[in-house]
Amino acid sequence: MDTLGKALPDNAALLLNRTDTSNWTTRSGDAAGWKVEDGTLHVVPGKGDIMTKELFTDHYLHLEFRCPDMPDKTGQAKGNSGVFIAGRYEIQVLDSYGLNIPGKGDCGAIYNQFAPLVNACRPPMEWQTYDVIFRAARLDKEGNVAEAARMTVIHNGIVIHNNVVTQGVTGAPLDEREGVPGPLLLQDHGDLVRYRNIWAIALPLEGSDTYQPR
Ligand code: MG
Repeated sequence: MDTLGKALPDNAALLLNRTDTSNWTTRSGDAAGWKVEDGTLHVVPGKGDIMTKELFTDHYLHLEFRCPDMPDKTGQAKGNSGVFIAGRYEIQVLDSYGLNIPGKGDCGAIYNQFAPLVNACRPPMEWQTYDVIFRAARLDKEGNVAEAARMTVIHNGIVIHNNVVTQGVTGAPLDEREGVPGPLLLQDHGDLVRYRNIWAIALPLEGSDTYQPR
């Protein structure tokens, strides 16, 4: 299931328009300082993380990213960025191409919680896809987490996380509130990572109780 270039479905929210970052802000709500050129979003190092104005609870996210070629760098210094689902759970973006056994900090990892099942990375400068199915935490009446958030992640068409139960928020979240709507947040880690074709579909929080043929 290669989803590279997959067109926006009718029921999806377009998160990146082709011209600017007007539907994004910094973490503190100021205008986002990243650049959009030819429909491609560029990290501008030093401008900080950016996040969508639109918030999501359960959702399906599609995005494409490209790591720069940094042959002299290794580990966390090599094409680092990150995709924070609901602003709180980071799926790592890194140039981990060719790594035999990826760890909890490598590309595709749910940062410091789960290593990807396999290394699905393409080489730097090639476009790659993440398709993420996110189920937000469920809260009890007191507002405590009764069921942790879950994620399925498909990287370049390969399942790298199969409905994993997260261990709470990952490092440097937008906030530590779980089970409430959050933005898509992209990380400025100082490297020239690019993004494109970003959209999301809000998912119903529970099943339909009526049959609606379509
Ligand atoms: Mg990162």
